[in-house]
Amino acid sequence: MNKPLIPVTEAISQIAEAMSLTATEPVRLADANGRILAEDTFAILNNPPADQSAMDGFAIRGDDLNSIPIKLRLIGESAAGAPWPHKLEQGTAIRISTGANMPEGADSIIIQENTRLIPDHDNADYVDILEAVERGKFIRRKGQDFSKDDLLIGAGTTLDGRMIGLLAAGGHETLIVRQKPVIAIASTGSELVEPGQQSYDTLNPAQIISSNTIMIAHMVSDMGASAVTLPPIADQDGALDLALAQISEADLLILTGGASVGKHDLVSAKMKDKDSLTFWRIAMRPGKPMIFGQIETASGLTTFLGLPGNPVSSGVCTLIFVRAAINAMLGRVSALTPRKAVLATAVPENDEREEYMRGTVSHDSKLGQDIFTPLISQDSGKLMDFAHANALMIRPAHSAEMAEGTLVDVIILNHD
Ligand code: AMP
Ligand code: MG
Repeated sequence: MNKPLIPVTEAISQIAEAMSLTATEPVRLADANGRILAEDTFAILNNPPADQSAMDGFAIRGDDLNSIPIKLRLIGESAAGAPWPHKLEQGTAIRISTGANMPEGADSIIIQENTRLIPDHDNADYVDILEAVERGKFIRRKGQDFSKDDLLIGAGTTLDGRMIGLLAAGGHETLIVRQKPVIAIASTGSELVEPGQQSYDTLNPAQIISSNTIMIAHMVSDMGASAVTLPPIADQDGALDLALAQISEADLLILTGGASVGKHDLVSAKMKDKDSLTFWRIAMRPGKPMIFGQIETASGLTTFLGLPGNPVSSGVCTLIFVRAAINAMLGRVSALTPRKAVLATAVPENDEREEYMRGTVSHDSKLGQDIFTPLISQDSGKLMDFAHANALMIRPAHSAEMAEGTLVDVIILNHD
């Protein structure tokens, strides 16, 4: 009898639970892009470090503005990086530039546009203040952006340029991040030839190029992992054992193909008797058969995920399940959050398998909404469609027919 189908969410949580966090390591700011911060990271410095001017102009004492215009004696300058070290006395002003420290005694900034120099050149002795200003306006207070010990970025965040800029300003040069999980990837199938392995005009019509390994390698590296790829494994006794004996130090091993119930599905046949593996039939389309658990490799028991061989199935399973495993190992807080889009064409009622439909999301500026157009064919062998789709629509299990215009959940595949 067939095993029952298990829901996608249940498989995801079992996978996430089985993974452990990778160790941490220090990285320089220059190498931190895309890495996952391992600890809450706090400011070491105040920003700004002192009260500073936000404009080019003149620092004055607000009490001096009892009539407008008023002439103040110009006695110095505070520039960015070169503060004026004295106290501002009554009836005086200093020139100040953006990012320069406020001198003691000054509490107001008059922007350059509201002044006139007397005489009208750079070595002027006086400045005429032509307009009053609110006290404190155009002053950036010490710590106004962030103060020492403020939380800058939380643990589990994927770092990008803006965040790294903030951490740099906060006094960090080295950050503590999660080590990239190492993912070993191999495809099984006697029909498979590695890209470039043999001259393409010598391929026989029963051979195909193995695209899964390279596809998954790049997908997992985009997810923050480090990929190690192996050559294809033939559907022959002993071939799998030989390959497993070459895998060491992987945090996760992914094999594609052979995971189903066919005569040549060696992965499932060979591993059936291993009680450290779970054979799942997932209520999902594409990607029903999946194997998950621990398997013996050169470095001992390694967490193992057996994905279906169809390229689209293995790609979708990578997006959903491998991503969950990687996020769990990295302690990444972000989840795959689907967005809403409006269905462009009707979709018939669904069976018990949640479907990840390939299609295109485009923005309709007249409607002010994103529109999802499913591809006509959802064949899981169609790499062309998978590569050109920019979104997957999640069609829930047992959903009724959906009319054109229905609001649906979509996962965006590329962001440029
Ligand atoms: P399997 O899961 O082994 O039954 O494979 C299902 C389908 O996917 C078959 O048509 C295979 O030829 C194809 N396939 C399996 N592995 C790969 C691969 N690495 N690259 C491209 N197609 C594959
Ligand atoms: Mg096969």
